[in-house]
Amino acid sequence: MSWYLVIGLIIGLVLAGTVLTILWYTRPRPRCPECGSPQIGQVSKEPLGMRDVRFPPAVLGGEGYTMVQISYRITYRCNECRARWSKTVTETS
Ligand SMILES: [Zn+2]
Repeated sequence: MSWYLVIGLIIGLVLAGTVLTILWYTRPRPRCPECGSPQIGQVSKEPLGMRDVRFPPAVLGGEGYTMVQISYRITYRCNECRARWSKTVTETS
């Protein structure tokens, strides 16, 4: 193996590592809406309700299928400024 191949490999690895690190640090994270801190915790997750979502039968026949959508209200708390807030999410199973 020639030396410039080794150096090229090392540079490639360093570049890939740098890109991954930048992606890791800039990935979207939930933050406190009051102070912007990422030091938040989930307090509770309460189900609000569920509903059936029925998909129409396929053109070539078949029963179609039903999925259950469950809505939750998730409450978060900020560990920095102790603000509380909640948001509603919908999960499909
Ligand atoms: Zn906060």
